[in-house]
Amino acid sequence: MMNTRSLRFRITAWYAGLLAGTLIVFGASVYLGLERYLDWTLERTLVAECRAVSTELLSQLPAKDTAWLATEINEAYAPEVNGLFIRVVHSGVGMVYLSGAPKDGTFDPGRIPFPSDKEMDGSRKLQFESGNRLLINSMTLTTPDGSRFLVESGAPYHQIEVTLHGLLLTLAIYMPFMVSLAVAGGYWLMRRSLQPVDEITKRAEGITSTNLSERLPVIRSGDELERLSLSLNRMIERLDNAFEHINRFSADASHELRTPLTILQLELEGIAQNYRGDASVEDQIGSALEETHRMSRIVESLLTISRLDAGEVKMDKSRLDLGELATSTAGEMKLLGEEKSIGLRIHAETGVHVVGDRVRLQQVIVNLIDNSIKYTPVGGMIEVRVGREGDSAVLEVSDNGLGIPAHAVPHVFERFYRADKARSRASGGAGLGLSIVKAICAAHNGEIEVSSQEGQGSTFRVELPLLPIVVNDGASAVLREV
Ligand code: ADP
Repeated sequence: MMNTRSLRFRITAWYAGLLAGTLIVFGASVYLGLERYLDWTLERTLVAECRAVSTELLSQLPAKDTAWLATEINEAYAPEVNGLFIRVVHSGVGMVYLSGAPKDGTFDPGRIPFPSDKEMDGSRKLQFESGNRLLINSMTLTTPDGSRFLVESGAPYHQIEVTLHGLLLTLAIYMPFMVSLAVAGGYWLMRRSLQPVDEITKRAEGITSTNLSERLPVIRSGDELERLSLSLNRMIERLDNAFEHINRFSADASHELRTPLTILQLELEGIAQNYRGDASVEDQIGSALEETHRMSRIVESLLTISRLDAGEVKMDKSRLDLGELATSTAGEMKLLGEEKSIGLRIHAETGVHVVGDRVRLQQVIVNLIDNSIKYTPVGGMIEVRVGREGDSAVLEVSDNGLGIPAHAVPHVFERFYRADKARSRASGGAGLGLSIVKAICAAHNGEIEVSSQEGQGSTFRVELPLLPIVVNDGASAVLREV
């Protein structure tokens, strides 16, 4: 289906319409011009014929007889062969010459009427029942001896009609051909000139908050397209600045909050020391301390995310075995699960190598497993899988727990987002764990996604660029119960 509203279609249609209009006007003027020219030429020829018969032959007539005249005219013009009509009338005497019927039988010379007084010394057109038309020129003359003659010479229009018809046919065949050629050419040209816009659109589509430093290709055409690409780039730059500003702000804010929080904690601990034994004060200070610890954790997490997003965190990257890292990390967390009677299984291919910061990637695994434990009821099961798919290393953590409501799925990686506020706060979460996971993945050129069914469980899937295996260490799938 062609998009009739598209610029490409509209311009091509306009272009084709204008061209067709021009061609039609041009064709019509050529047709009319040629018709008039051929008419005029035919008339000139007939006039010249009449004149030749009058001056060359009739002046000699008194001396010669009509048989001589007939031979002369037949010899000079061969009217039957050329389809001409010639008639000479001697006034008072009668018809002295009449050409024979033409070979193609277009008219009958004997039935051609004489010109009326008005038509003397001029031309007239005759139309026969057969549709054929004849142009006749008549001329009167008086010879020196006083005899008066009427000379007529005629020719059929047929030839002119054939020529004009040929022209019409040529125009009818070539015009659509030329218009379609122009349409195809125009469409192709439009496509070519809109190609850079396509390119810009594709690139713009790929720009997100994580790669705002990229710029779109600039079309150096010196026109609206160049201005469009330049202003889009300036817009991205402003967005880039704004994003940086926001990141800066949360990094600065959390950094500034750290020191006073530490001091607050120390002060509270000091007070707790002084009031040891006073149960109610101890209780109050204990809960105040708990809240400050909580606040510290939030501030630390925020700082980490801001720095990761800003690319300020120095990563200690090295080649590491993701399967091995996941196995050991999950092993350390097994106890945590056992407290809720949640089973933890790991299924890791060997030799899934990536380049990354061991501590950070471990944090990813810890956060994901920790969430699964938090949001899976007693007796549940958590599975960790590591494998390779194409040129990606894949880490999956799935559980058969509460799951995430569909409306919340797109938001779980946002800062401070909690699907169920009451449920999360009770378990100590501030909604920052997955933001950290996502930031770490991004810093490793990786991606994270989640699929979840409320009430059935969730699967978090991390993809990292896979390092090619250097030594073939017999990559095989092993199922280990940790
Ligand atoms: P929190 O500190 O609240 O756990 P996260 O950023 O780690 O914050 O997670 C955000 C929200 O995503 C959580 O509040 C929870 O609702 C949902 N969520 C995360 N992991 C799971 C999971 N495995 N099962 C169900 N819900 C989850």
